[in-house]
Amino acid sequence: MIEKVPNSTEVNPHKLIDQFGRQVDYIRLSITDRCDFRCIYCMSEDMTFLPRDEVLSLEECARLVKVFVGLGVSKVRITGGEPLVRKNALWLFKEIGKLKNLNELVLTTNGSQLEKKAHDLKNAGVKRINISLDSLDATRFKNITRTGELDKVLRGIQAAKLAGFNSIKLNTVLMRGFNDDEILPLVNFAIQQAIDISFIEEMPLGDVNHTRESTFVSNADTLKLLQSKHSLISSAETTGGPARYWRVANTQTKIGFISPHSHNFCESCNRVRITCKGELYLCLGQEDKIELMPLLRAHPNDDQPLITAILNSMAVKPKGHDFDLRRAEPSIIRFMSHTGG
Ligand code: SAM
Ligand code: SF4
Repeated sequence: MIEKVPNSTEVNPHKLIDQFGRQVDYIRLSITDRCDFRCIYCMSEDMTFLPRDEVLSLEECARLVKVFVGLGVSKVRITGGEPLVRKNALWLFKEIGKLKNLNELVLTTNGSQLEKKAHDLKNAGVKRINISLDSLDATRFKNITRTGELDKVLRGIQAAKLAGFNSIKLNTVLMRGFNDDEILPLVNFAIQQAIDISFIEEMPLGDVNHTRESTFVSNADTLKLLQSKHSLISSAETTGGPARYWRVANTQTKIGFISPHSHNFCESCNRVRITCKGELYLCLGQEDKIELMPLLRAHPNDDQPLITAILNSMAVKPKGHDFDLRRAEPSIIRFMSHTGG
């Protein structure tokens, strides 16, 4: 049970503590809604992207991150859309990489640009990198991503390994009838490459044209299958999010299971998300948000209004999400590419 702390209306001037006593020390910032892929679980084929002036400039992104780090945030994940298709994104990584009180700058990418950019990202201070990979079969990969090329992503994974990130993790969204027969090959690939892999249950976000209930693969079933083939050792490691980890015995690989439908992680939720439009979403599965872009633009030389709004937002961070696969309508009509994964 999450207990409400007394005096929840009083805000701590230095840290982000919400009304249930949870400290927010992790932000996920989407720096673009654009992407070179059109993954079937994430976007429609004919996406309309936001006009440029409705998206935070890279300078505004840097300013926001600095403010959050000043409020005790120690981990920043840059995501999208595809963050690496944003022009001059490297400048932002370098700016964030310089922040003294930041422990971890991490990135989620589809891998399509890594062959060219992995080395510079590492030098800019990116510590860890998550690369989405849903299939090892080129035709299937194309079917799922609609426009992606498997070879390019595989070369990106090799470039990331050469660049020497502290950790590389593959992210796989499993869908029945699409890639659920690739669980073992994908794990074997991760073991061979000495990298980690996480399986993500599909979330009911956005407006795609397949029913989530029919493609849903539960992580419990995936774990059972993997336990029948590998010796898995449960790991206590947690990021405060919906992931649970297992080590594959005698390998360097960890397997994560990201189960957003479970409510267990909400109690320890330590994160908020910022969209590329500067909307501060306090929970991935709820609509509660604060608009930060107007504050950034109305007060270009004064961070105080921004700081006050962010501190006050802690009073409305919801207790937990409300996903339900059985609903005909997605719980939240919001694209993952907009909110950031
Ligand atoms: N373009 C980058 C990528 O694909 O890694 C970063 C953004 S993407 C929105 C972040 C993560 O969200 C990816 O791992 C993707 O597979 C995942 N994702 C997108 N839509 C999803 C959905 N409906 N359910 C679960 N995961 C989803
Ligand atoms: Fe692009 Fe990532 Fe969404 Fe795929 S999951 S369409 S790569 S933003």
